[in-house]
Amino acid sequence: MPPESLRCKECKTTYALDARYVCERCFGPLEVAYAPRSQVDPAALRRRVQAGPHSLWRYTDFLPVQTPRGTLAAGWTPLLRADRLAEQLGLRELWIKNDAANPTHSFKDRVVSVALARARELGFGTIACASTGNLANAVAAHAAAAGLESYVFIPSNLEEQKVLATGVYGTNLVRVRGNYDDVNRLCTELSAEHEWAFVNINMRPYYAEGSKTLAFETIEQLGFEMPDRVVCPIASGSLFTKIARGFEEWLEVGLVKGRVPTFNGAQATGCSPVASAFAAGQDFCRPVKPDTIAKSLAIGNPADGPYALDLARRTGGAIDAVSDEEIREGIRLLAQTTGIFTETAGGVTVAVLSKLAQRGDIDPDERVVAYITGDGLKTLDCVRGTFEACEIEPTLASFEAASERVPAVA
Ligand SMILES: *Cc1c(COP(=O)(O)O)cnc(C)c1O
Ligand SMILES: [Zn+2]
Repeated sequence: MPPESLRCKECKTTYALDARYVCERCFGPLEVAYAPRSQVDPAALRRRVQAGPHSLWRYTDFLPVQTPRGTLAAGWTPLLRADRLAEQLGLRELWIKNDAANPTHSFKDRVVSVALARARELGFGTIACASTGNLANAVAAHAAAAGLESYVFIPSNLEEQKVLATGVYGTNLVRVRGNYDDVNRLCTELSAEHEWAFVNINMRPYYAEGSKTLAFETIEQLGFEMPDRVVCPIASGSLFTKIARGFEEWLEVGLVKGRVPTFNGAQATGCSPVASAFAAGQDFCRPVKPDTIAKSLAIGNPADGPYALDLARRTGGAIDAVSDEEIREGIRLLAQTTGIFTETAGGVTVAVLSKLAQRGDIDPDERVVAYITGDGLKTLDCVRGTFEACEIEPTLASFEAASERVPAVA
């Protein structure tokens, strides 16, 4: 089922599979279109997938690359059953897809793997990106592994941990005085000036395909069954909509039975253009100026906002927003019930999951999957001051004296 063309999502005009992302006729976004899959034998396809490597390259049949490569194997992250968290929320079957377990500790390793492989096929020698943080880490690391030059553009107010964990790979790191939307605008201009593969601009159709692998893995790890509901964070809306596309593709080829799950999107109140449009019943997003601790989700003008709105509505889901304080509580709740320490984006997801459970939106018998997309070690500041430790002399007496003051678990 090789990729056939790039196709406009709006007017369906097709283009060759090169580095372009916007329709010349209507300015709609382009996506990868594949040859029809009606002829495939699902049993043979399933055997081929299962015989593949333990990385996203086991799904090459569904990706727009002919020669998968890359030594940093992204994907095949754990899907963990979270019974203690489920019990707290009054749910029966809850799973955590822990994508912090990727090489640079976020789901961005998936999208970068695919964009970079396609960029090399197209002959690019330099990789670049506009990043809210995690993409910077992934581009710098994967470019280093491939021996390619890279340019990484970030907003100057990014978390220190994300800046350090990018610079270490020896990339050309550029801090831009502005927010992500300013960085993205600058990079769009730069992509017209330089022969660079901007993974999330001129390579965006290929980049986006990488997120489908989260759906494929979820199905495989559930024993070739579907979840009933998924909860997933939204920045540009690419991840959210492409997970749905992954489920749809495997339903189409007969690798799994059932229906597309209910899709719940998660945003931070301080940057919630998609959640606001959902609440207002609109099918477009009004751009906002982000102000939230969830910096990896701080995109004020989300490219895939309209498609995310449509997906939530047609699957009977919703898009909700949570405050910075609820995000911190979500991080603690996940850590204290599952042992997984997630970054602020994961806090957004868990806080929205709690909100849905409290609101009674989730039937207790549903099988729910929550996507944890990044690692808590990258946003350490937001847990600072949320607990105490007592300090003692290295003697028994000192411990006994202090022990009634040892802080109890909150
Ligand atoms: C980039 C990112 C997302 C979602 O990004 P989209 O632009 O919506 O695809 C979610 N979580 C984390 C941690 C991210 O870095
Ligand atoms: Zn078009």
